[in-house]
Amino acid sequence: MESKGLHGMKEGFKYQDRHVTLDTSKEFRVGDGKISGYSAVFLGALSLLAVLAYLFPSYLTTTELRQVYDAEFLQHILKYGMYFSLFFGALTFVLGKYRRMGSVGIGLTLTAFALGGYTIPVGPVEAKKLSLGVDWLILAFLGSVFVFMTLEKLFPKYRNQVILRSEWGLDLFYFCLNHLAISAILIYANFHVGHFEWAVSESVQSFIQSTPLFVQVVLTVLAADFVLYWEHRLYHEVKILWPIHAVHHSVENMDWLAGSRGHFFQVFSERAMVMVPLYLLGVDTTALNIYVAFAALHAVLIHCNLSCSFGPLKYLFVTPQFHHWHHSSEEPALDTNYSAHTIVFDWLFKTYHLPGDKWPAKYGTTKPLPKSFLGQALYPLRALTQKD
Ligand SMILES: [Zn+2]
Repeated sequence: MESKGLHGMKEGFKYQDRHVTLDTSKEFRVGDGKISGYSAVFLGALSLLAVLAYLFPSYLTTTELRQVYDAEFLQHILKYGMYFSLFFGALTFVLGKYRRMGSVGIGLTLTAFALGGYTIPVGPVEAKKLSLGVDWLILAFLGSVFVFMTLEKLFPKYRNQVILRSEWGLDLFYFCLNHLAISAILIYANFHVGHFEWAVSESVQSFIQSTPLFVQVVLTVLAADFVLYWEHRLYHEVKILWPIHAVHHSVENMDWLAGSRGHFFQVFSERAMVMVPLYLLGVDTTALNIYVAFAALHAVLIHCNLSCSFGPLKYLFVTPQFHHWHHSSEEPALDTNYSAHTIVFDWLFKTYHLPGDKWPAKYGTTKPLPKSFLGQALYPLRALTQKD
């Protein structure tokens, strides 16, 4: 008989430990020039992107995000980014290895200097309806590297898992794409929400707005979680939808970048669906901003290679261990742990799987997916025409 009780192990299933062997050829080690090479290239690329965003802010920055940050202050960070890229580039020549990466980093930064560097005047920006979220990409990348990569180094679940694990480039590509498309996603989500105007109740909204901020945040989290739970469950349990969501599940090494992998159809539909309860509740902007910041950080956190104790919070919120089980290809975990924020709906609808302190031994899909971006983008179409 199946047993999926709270904290329950599935009877008869042999839970195994996952073993990750250290790939020394891909490891970052102090002193061999690899850290400098990668730092030079990434800082150089980000600097060039930032300079382009300062030159063409209407087309390369996000209207909603521009209101939150100080573009003049960020020029100081850009200045340090550019000088550090040059420093790391030069260091690769001293250390003798990865000189090619160092040269690429220096080349990118010098191009950024030639285009105006960190002294481009910041003026008023003419808002365009559709733009590329270059600013969102840079801020999210730097923030994620500082916060999540640090956490993963301090409290790793798999200490032997390297930063450059297999398919990291593919997931970085998804990360860039999802962030660059922010304005298109918001346009689509707002269009989608427009279909729910009939369901707006002014009396319900004004009642919700009269409640304390904390209550409004809790309501928002629960309403969003309810919609995300069912949206997610349908992606798993409706045969025609699964190949779209399978792209997200095809990742076989979990870390801060793993959650970025997702078919564009899912990325757009998920954001559009979650916008509906947010729109209908009509909570204060502060509550909405708290929710958006929480949701964005939490979504990355739960994919991380992270094993720290969350104390009693683990009985309420989705943790990395809980969500890692959702990504497991082992039988007892299939089609479980759908929740995005809290564990409430998995518990209520009996799809909860958290076997004590055990972690999955294997991640990914039971059927292998293509390993390229294009192959994955077309996979749902291919799956439709294939008989299994
Ligand atoms: Zn899923």
